[in-house]
Amino acid sequence: MTMPSIFLSHGAPTLPLTDTPARAFLSGLGKTLPRPKAVLVVSAHWETRRPAVNAVTWNETIHDFYGFPRALYDLRYPAPGAPDLAPAIAGLLRGAGFECDVDGKRGLDHGAWVPLSLIYSAADVPVLQLSVQTELGPEHHLRIGRALAPLREQGVLIIGSGSFTHDLSEFRHHGLNDPAPDWVNSFADWFDAALTAGRTDELLDYRRRAPHARKNHPSEEHLLPLYVALGAAGATPRVEHLHASATFGVLRMDVYAFKGAHDDEARSDTAVNETAS
Ligand code: ZN
Repeated sequence: MTMPSIFLSHGAPTLPLTDTPARAFLSGLGKTLPRPKAVLVVSAHWETRRPAVNAVTWNETIHDFYGFPRALYDLRYPAPGAPDLAPAIAGLLRGAGFECDVDGKRGLDHGAWVPLSLIYSAADVPVLQLSVQTELGPEHHLRIGRALAPLREQGVLIIGSGSFTHDLSEFRHHGLNDPAPDWVNSFADWFDAALTAGRTDELLDYRRRAPHARKNHPSEEHLLPLYVALGAAGATPRVEHLHASATFGVLRMDVYAFKGAHDDEARSDTAVNETAS
């Protein structure tokens, strides 16, 4: 079963404890997807100089945030790792000309475990993480996604976990369910239109072309996972805007699915073959 790739916005670490449309959406997302063999999360919260994938038997839950309620630090997401799959992922990247480290210790940061605790709450799907290289920008991450595309055919769900908009300097000035201001929505609208129309060149140049790009993303690490998910669906992806909402006004919580142009054909071919045999 060929898996789609997903970009999701993980919001504030408190997402699992809040009553928000995004929490409700993510809580139902897993049931809408084919059951994956493993999940590979590209998280905004693991930044390295060159790509790294973790290879552990069990993932430690990393509480990589400060000043939040005690209940959040008590949460654990003890998902198994997929140490046998990590070398294959590193191999795909090396085959495409990237260097890639395999990290035998790192567990899951909150960019991974917070949304996964909603999507696969039983923590029974093996999870790996892949790091981002913030200084290398969108094209690098799109190419990483393209290199990882074969994983989708092997039943691996690639999730880019970041934030559709992410100006943390304004985060504490807004209530949980405040509406997004115009400078947030105009950026999100521009980006959505470019994604939906397949204008990849414009997406790669979003910092110059999109309205309020630098205000919504003072640094790029929360948008770069989107490019990996987009790249994983190939050169002419089909884009599905699965969810749109905002938390704390400035954090758009949008979720996208990306599918390859021929994913459904592959499925119907399989169905025909199964019928014939
Ligand atoms: Zn984050």
